Amino acid sequence: MRIFDPHIHMTSRTTDDYERMAAAGVRALVEPAFWLGQPRTNAGAFTDYFDSLIGWEPFRAAQFGIRHHCTIGLNPKEANDPRCREVLGLLPRYLAKDGVVAVGELGYDSMTPEEDEVFAAQLALAVEHELPALVHTPHRDKHRGTLRTLDVVKESGIDAGMVVVDHLNEVTVGSVAGSGCWMGFSIYPGTKMSPDRMAAVLREYGPERILVNSAADWGRSDPLLTLATGQAMLAAGFTDDDVDRVLWRNPVEFYAQSGRLDLSATDGQPDAFAGNSIARGGN
Ligand SMILES: [Zn+2]
Repeated sequence: MRIFDPHIHMTSRTTDDYERMAAAGVRALVEPAFWLGQPRTNAGAFTDYFDSLIGWEPFRAAQFGIRHHCTIGLNPKEANDPRCREVLGLLPRYLAKDGVVAVGELGYDSMTPEEDEVFAAQLALAVEHELPALVHTPHRDKHRGTLRTLDVVKESGIDAGMVVVDHLNEVTVGSVAGSGCWMGFSIYPGTKMSPDRMAAVLREYGPERILVNSAADWGRSDPLLTLATGQAMLAAGFTDDDVDRVLWRNPVEFYAQSGRLDLSATDGQPDAFAGNSIARGGN
């Protein structure tokens, strides 16, 4: 099983996790810029973090043959802190970098006017830089937050196919399915989606435009739940090809829209990565 985790926060994980992920079949991943738990008080703290996402983490991942990419953005939670607003001005510089394959995580936390403003500004940046957008949906008031998210995406003028609306569940997937946006699911231990529930969603909606991630971070999470989802799919009667589509070809197709996905050096077997031919314009 080859796995591309399209949303995982490796900054919060140990090197042992990289080792276990590589052994489980994870060959590539995307690490979205997010909230680190401790609120940042100035834009310089973001600069250092963004630099680690394009420098240190790709280096750390490469030790295990894993290709690391990232998304860059001002997360919804810190969009509410006026001291962090300056970060919007730093983004264009990062959005021009090779390893950056989308703008994100964007979207809503508490659905405040400040979040509205920062969300719209960053969707405009995605359009301007011709990059996909990774959109986080709120954990509270999820259904209303998802509908409002889809409205903002529509108003922005971005192509729906360039957007993944993430952290969906059985309640919210239906409204995103008809929108043309990609549907992201974070598989967590205990809460939200489980591997078996994910297999049931795939049975109902099919594999098209669906991305499955572990979203592993500093909270209770497990970077191997992508593998567990592949196993749950097989147990539910899906084929190896279905699993490969969901866990590899779909994320490749979505992020290749950046024109920057580089999977050539994942494990020294470039022939195994035919999906990379989808990439628009190479590096
Ligand atoms: Zn995240």
